[in-house]
Amino acid sequence: MGNTKEMTLRVEGLGKRFVRGETVVAALHGVEFSIAEGEFVSIMGASGSGKSTLLNILTGLDDPSGGEVWLEGRGLSTMSDDELTDLRRTRIGIVFQFFNLLPSITALENVALPLRASGVRRRRAQDKARSMLETVGLADRSGHLPGELSGGQMQRVAIARALAIEPGLLVADEPTGNLDSSTGGEILDLLASIHREQGVTILMVTHSPAAAAYGDRVISMADGRVVDIAVTNRGAARERRTFAQATLV
Ligand code: ADP
Ligand code: MG
Repeated sequence: MGNTKEMTLRVEGLGKRFVRGETVVAALHGVEFSIAEGEFVSIMGASGSGKSTLLNILTGLDDPSGGEVWLEGRGLSTMSDDELTDLRRTRIGIVFQFFNLLPSITALENVALPLRASGVRRRRAQDKARSMLETVGLADRSGHLPGELSGGQMQRVAIARALAIEPGLLVADEPTGNLDSSTGGEILDLLASIHREQGVTILMVTHSPAAAAYGDRVISMADGRVVDIAVTNRGAARERRTFAQATLV
């Protein structure tokens, strides 16, 4: 593969069939796309179009029936379960629709947890967690339990947790799906500002065109296939800025 290396994520000919007794559900067919380092890409599709199936495969939680996923130049099909677990722990940050915070530990401890799991010492993990909570605007809530936070605040904690490991790819599965539209807008603004300021590569799955428009590109899916890949206004503006900077030097 010529240019797999410089792509953060590259998906080739991905297929997935679920077989249960006599019933076969073809959830993905020939899905192909790539995401460059520093891009913010949205995957948009109606419920049932295969978005979660795709994310499960991209993050190594499920195997495809065919095709390959390259993450930072490594083919997932060649990796053992232990290597995949390690990859998820160290290179992929995941933000979920329902936040998935542990209810019995504080916001700070939730953010520090993935760092602790990958062997970072307590003091360093807590310092990093504190600075991540500051980044998402929640420095004053670090001692709160998830149940004492609003939905939007819980999602901010989840974003801080996903970023704490300094992932090569931040994956968000319907991150605003459980929030009212104004709180959802704040979360999207936060993702956009983290993308702009820290250059994190983001892959966000959504059924909402308004949310998808926060990305540089939108990959549209229907019935398990990619049906369109389009540059958004934001993406076009970012390309113009990059071009202007490159030609000014
Ligand atoms: P989305 O996340 O876009 O709503 P999904 O990826 O969850 O879509 O589902 C895509 C299709 O695959 C649906 O038809 C769904 O019913 C089917 N599907 C998903 N997971 C399974 C499974 N474990 N077993 C059988 N069918 C499944
Ligand atoms: Mg889904």
